[in-house]
Amino acid sequence: MSKVSNCPCGASNSYKLCCQKYHNGQKPKTALLLMKSRYCAFARGEVDYIVKTTHPKNPALQNDVSKWRRELQEFSKNTQFRGLKILEVKEAELNGKATVTFCVDLIQHGHQAGFTEKSTFEKVNGRWLYLDGVIQSSVEAELQGESDFSL
Ligand SMILES: [Zn+2]
Repeated sequence: MSKVSNCPCGASNSYKLCCQKYHNGQKPKTALLLMKSRYCAFARGEVDYIVKTTHPKNPALQNDVSKWRRELQEFSKNTQFRGLKILEVKEAELNGKATVTFCVDLIQHGHQAGFTEKSTFEKVNGRWLYLDGVIQSSVEAELQGESDFSL
């Protein structure tokens, strides 16, 4: 029996049974599912999904969509997505916003590029969108002091 690999978002299901349906157009029911499916989209280079699920008010949103898509593609290609850990979830309150705090394990050009972020999501016309995010700490900063390269 061959082992089906897990979805990049960390679920024990395969991509087909997990995030693929969102990338194909189904709306995630919760902010957490949106967050996970966006991480998965980054890992797989599904840049249309990233563009589509970014809130119009998000500071990362770029007017030049083709340039933005190229940048996302570059980022996806040059990054190894090694894992996602959800630290805290606050689902929608009265204002329709939810927050997810998570930690990502990324490698870029052989270096740790992971970070912890608190993201805010807003439901607009029945669809969750990524509003903005605040980086709380980088893994690199945490790992300094216990470097493998010490003498
Ligand atoms: Zn998934």
